[in-house]
Amino acid sequence: MPVPLLDLKRQYAPLREEIREVLDRVCDSQRFILGPEVEAFEREAARALGVTHAVGVSSGTDALLVSMMALGIGPGDEVILPVFTFFATAGAVARLGATPVFADIDARDFCLDASAVEAQMSARTRAVVPVHLFGQAADMGALGDVTGEVPVIEDCAQAWGAAYNGSGAGGIGTTGAFSFFPSKNLGGFGDGGLVTTNDAGLAERLRQLRMHGQSGVYEHETVGGNFRLDAIQAAVLRVKLPHVNGWIERRRANAARYGRLFAEAGLTEIVGLPEVVEGRGHTFNQYVVRVPKRDELRAFLAGHGIGAAVYYPLPLHLQPCFASLGGHKGDFPIAEAASREVLALPVFPELTPAEQEEVVGRIAEFYRG
Ligand SMILES: *Cc1c(COP(=O)(O)O)cnc(C)c1O
Repeated sequence: MPVPLLDLKRQYAPLREEIREVLDRVCDSQRFILGPEVEAFEREAARALGVTHAVGVSSGTDALLVSMMALGIGPGDEVILPVFTFFATAGAVARLGATPVFADIDARDFCLDASAVEAQMSARTRAVVPVHLFGQAADMGALGDVTGEVPVIEDCAQAWGAAYNGSGAGGIGTTGAFSFFPSKNLGGFGDGGLVTTNDAGLAERLRQLRMHGQSGVYEHETVGGNFRLDAIQAAVLRVKLPHVNGWIERRRANAARYGRLFAEAGLTEIVGLPEVVEGRGHTFNQYVVRVPKRDELRAFLAGHGIGAAVYYPLPLHLQPCFASLGGHKGDFPIAEAASREVLALPVFPELTPAEQEEVVGRIAEFYRG
């Protein structure tokens, strides 16, 4: 039985009528940029996330970029971030002419290690960017102890609905950057993003920056960009928003079922299951195991029509575009080991128990023959 890594059609089917109605509403209004749909979504998103301000932007990447612009980050500044994350976390820093400073991760949760951050802090550190990787919140308490007054930008792209000791992701740091890329826990019909903050002044700056830094009508105090969220995306996201907590619960239930199935199959000595750390609200945007012979297993699963993916095969210090930063193999051993061992398995909310049994059965077949 083939099992896709992600099947968005199953999420769309029950929402089809409602979504087509709101798309009609936007078409009839002929208002496509910001406007009432975006404003309503921002209010609803802020309430859902427990933050005072939410600013809709064009992507998760731009949510990171505009957060850094609002904090005045530029040439000569250093921004500390995990070496094991999606490229955009570092790309945003580099695009502003600032220097990405990499730190290793914690082997347990794949998130930024606070002691590694402490070792990288300098007089030029202007921000620290913890990434709540795979949907589990980073250790924000330990990180807060080492960052002190330095602003913290939470990369929440994979972590809608995650929490650290009950505080929602995106409301803990200075800003939170969310993505509505279709595969995220809350996904749009294209690119979209959101910046959250509890700082009213910062929210105002973010709103100006997403609109070319415009402070009055065709008056520009600063240089911003076009980082706006489309009304069509906001309208779709408003339909999905009331369902997202239920979808996260199903992801958690699927993760728990994998745990039982791998244990029943006697595979837990071979397959390293994801650690659900107490108080981190794991939302399982990805269900990531650690396995030996990872690439062979992935090819074997693909041969049986089972989708699996590697997030991420190359840590950032080894990316060609960052060669000038002087990174070498061996600099970040925990991230490098992760990049060799990780494999994301299907965990989307509509996945069936039979499909999960198929995934675990094929993995058992691979290791046992
Ligand atoms: C998806 C993602 C982003 C970028 O979001 P886009 O909306 O695709 O620009 C940034 N950081 C992480 C960790 C992500 O997973």
